[in-house]
Amino acid sequence: MRPRLRGGPSRRLLVLLLAITVVPLVSLLWLGRYLLEEDRAIAAKQAGERLDRAATLVAAAVDRAIAADEQRLAAGARDWSAGAVVVILAESRVSAAPALRLAFLPLAPALPEADARLFEPVDRAEFQSKDRTVARELLETLTASSDPAVRATARLQLARQFSSLGEHERALRIYEPLANVDTVALAGVPVGLVARYRRCQLLAALGRTAALRKEAATLHQDLLTGRWTVTAPVFVLYRRDADAWMGASDVHPGPEERMAGAVQALWEGRDRWPAGPGTSPRRFVLEAGGDTYSVLWQSRASDVRALVAAPEYVRANWLPGASALAREHGVTVHVSSFDGDPPPATDGSIVIPSATSRLPWALAVARHPTSAAPEATSRRLLLIIGLAVLITMALASSYFIARSVHREIAVARLQSDFVAAVSHEFRTPLTTLRQFTDMLREGGAADDPQRQVCYEAQARATDRLTRLVESVLDFGSMEAGKRRYRFDALSCAALVRAVVDDFRREVKAAGYHIECRATSQVEVVADAEALGRALRNLLENAVKYSPDSRTVDVIVTERDSTVAIAVRDRGIGVPPAERKAIFDQFHRGAEARTRGIAGTGIGLAMVDHIVRAHGGHVDVQSEPGQGSTFTIVLPMAMDRDAIGTSKFELRSSKLT
Ligand code: ADP
Repeated sequence: MRPRLRGGPSRRLLVLLLAITVVPLVSLLWLGRYLLEEDRAIAAKQAGERLDRAATLVAAAVDRAIAADEQRLAAGARDWSAGAVVVILAESRVSAAPALRLAFLPLAPALPEADARLFEPVDRAEFQSKDRTVARELLETLTASSDPAVRATARLQLARQFSSLGEHERALRIYEPLANVDTVALAGVPVGLVARYRRCQLLAALGRTAALRKEAATLHQDLLTGRWTVTAPVFVLYRRDADAWMGASDVHPGPEERMAGAVQALWEGRDRWPAGPGTSPRRFVLEAGGDTYSVLWQSRASDVRALVAAPEYVRANWLPGASALAREHGVTVHVSSFDGDPPPATDGSIVIPSATSRLPWALAVARHPTSAAPEATSRRLLLIIGLAVLITMALASSYFIARSVHREIAVARLQSDFVAAVSHEFRTPLTTLRQFTDMLREGGAADDPQRQVCYEAQARATDRLTRLVESVLDFGSMEAGKRRYRFDALSCAALVRAVVDDFRREVKAAGYHIECRATSQVEVVADAEALGRALRNLLENAVKYSPDSRTVDVIVTERDSTVAIAVRDRGIGVPPAERKAIFDQFHRGAEARTRGIAGTGIGLAMVDHIVRAHGGHVDVQSEPGQGSTFTIVLPMAMDRDAIGTSKFELRSSKLT
């Protein structure tokens, strides 16, 4: 089979290609990931700062709205929009504004009542004398009294009498105008309330359901809207009956009732909050009837002024400004007390406790889920696009480089295949040529010395050509990893002497003198043919690159457990920069090319390959213009174990 020469340092190109593809790609990916993470961290930090700023602004806006109401409260304002009521809590009096916003009060103001003694004659006539006519006449006299309380009480009694006499219509007619009398009371209950209640009782007794429902609804409505200032027990009592007459089994408390409940709770817990002059205004929350009320509490010398605000008032009056700000800053506001428990503080939210903000409740300000900062989004997009472009460019350039490298390698391979093919084709004609030359040389031209000289020259040229062809083919098999070595223990000095003797004969005619000092007794494990070829290569080079000197020294020495075969010439030398490269295949020195010294650039590569296969190495010492010493360093045969048998089992290896 024909060995193949592989063109150029393809593996190095491959490594280079990988380096320029993989390294920048990995670096780019790493850089991209790093930049994205950095960007994410910066964006998160900026978002956190924005959230902080927004939370501060939102809390300040709520605080401003509350402070404005505190000022109005201090100024004694009485008109408050729906959901809020001002209560003034004094020791023995509670008042509220706006007036009709509470169904009942903790303390009811005492309304004027009729002097009970005026009615004693009536009672005597009615219950002791059983004289209802006299009693009625007395009552009718009292209905003309200038005292509205007396008038109202007399009418109430009159109506009751008619009712007990069965004159229901008459009684109802008397009660009707009385239902509007709210300024006087009977036994602590406003006359209007008593009159309306009794009308309901009468209608119920008469079974006039439709009229009763209507009347009870009016009573219910008046009770709830606080038309009469009553205490909680009175309210509960009358309301329960009104509900029953209305046929309602489960009537939910209206806002006035709920608000009244809150005021009741405030009154009952008044000792818990600061009182007296000099105490600073307070803001706090009050739980009543399942609702949470916000309270602005201002303590004065003799009483306390408090604004009780239901959630709807807070939402309508204290939060709109903050909500607008929140929208502007892409956050949502959550009031802990009446929006449920605030969400736990996370990356996207901040909870401002009331202790820090002086607000009645904790405020949770959360980043709106869809409110990513636009500049962060576009920055990230730009980053991703930039990275994608860079990666695409890196991939594209790698592809083009790979393609051209592939082509280069293919061309180099074609060239080396061609050289190998030609060399192979040379073999057969060369063998024939060599045989004929040998025959001619040996076959007697003794009579013609000139012809003999020609035959000798022809034989040398044929030998050189044969060696060249063999070298090229041998190099091809080494490079293809097919070169087999046959190792034997042999005397190093003997081998060197044999090769030098052989070579000496060849170059003697050209005037070269090969000095050989090889006396060592040491053995090496070597393939005699391969090692001989390596030494011969060095000798050929020593001669070839010594145009002015004709002496070459070959010295065999022992160093520790190695044997060194040094070939020293006094030729052109090797510049330091080339000392490594000359062992690369096809590399030729600059000086060699300038001087036009013939060569293929595979000699030293082969030497290096062979010596390495023997577990050794090649050293170079050189001084340009002064000469060079190439030294083959081999392990001694006895040190075979130390070197490792694997080296010696090596039958083939690749030249790269
Ligand atoms: P070639 O001799 O065919 O060019 P080699 O591989 O044998 O190829 O040598 C490679 C190069 O090393 C040579 O071209 C030459 O420049 C340099 N070189 C080798 N041996 C010597 C030497 N003895 N003196 C000076 N230069 C040398």
